[in-house]
Amino acid sequence: MKKKKKLSWHQAFLISLVILLALLLIFSRGYRAARRVAMPVDTSGQQTIPDPHNDRDTMTTSPSFPMPEITGNTLLGHIDPPSDHDFVLVDESYASRQGLYMRQAAYDAFLKMQKAALNDGITLTVLSAARTFDHQKRIWENKWNGHQVLHGNILATDIYDPVERAREILRFSAMPGTSRHHWGTDIDLNSLQNAYFESGEGKKIYQWLLANAGDYGYCQPYTARDKDRTGGYEEEKWHWSYFPIASEFLRAYPKLVSYDDIKGFDGAATARRLMVIERYVLDISEKCY
Ligand SMILES: [Zn+2]
Repeated sequence: MKKKKKLSWHQAFLISLVILLALLLIFSRGYRAARRVAMPVDTSGQQTIPDPHNDRDTMTTSPSFPMPEITGNTLLGHIDPPSDHDFVLVDESYASRQGLYMRQAAYDAFLKMQKAALNDGITLTVLSAARTFDHQKRIWENKWNGHQVLHGNILATDIYDPVERAREILRFSAMPGTSRHHWGTDIDLNSLQNAYFESGEGKKIYQWLLANAGDYGYCQPYTARDKDRTGGYEEEKWHWSYFPIASEFLRAYPKLVSYDDIKGFDGAATARRLMVIERYVLDISEKCY
């Protein structure tokens, strides 16, 4: 007959210790889980805690995206969208050409707006989006040097006085460093002619935008001149701006950019005389402020 082996006192002690530790572990886990349910403490500062008494959890007091860093250079268009993680390519199915970039949050809102428009039989097409300082410089200097007709067959080089020449170009084109297209928040839609939006399909599109764009954070900065907007650019029914970001950029502009920063292109010396910051950058529809 086999003799029953007795546990030594230290073996018994070790087994008891293991059992005790296992019990402690189970108890502490259960306690933490119970605490999470009772008290949803937000330690990260970023996680959203659902409020069981409020089903409007999509309503927030601050934007649900990180605000891009605003510097003088970002406002002046010294940007490189392809290498900037806040910019994304506009899908070709919504654009007139390849290689257009927008800031992520502005693009996300545009996609929602585009989808809603499509449900109403409206097709929104992005013709132009983010533009760098150098891109705007090419547009400006092509006009300034007479390589491109302005409107009504006028060449800017026919206008001898530099201030008058700049004023004529400024009817529809911004000086490099002062364009809202530098910000990645602004887009031109469907046509660059106001007349297109005044009848037929264009009118339907414009009416839809007026009625609905605000729901997606978009506004028209260059409205018809009236008591709210007395100067600046002419009306642009095609230009729409994502105001949750653009309004912050606009507020920062006069603080971070001075006339000394508006330089590096033909005719830059006229910027101060024409007060382009006050009369063009800041003179927009109050709906976009
Ligand atoms: Zn535009």
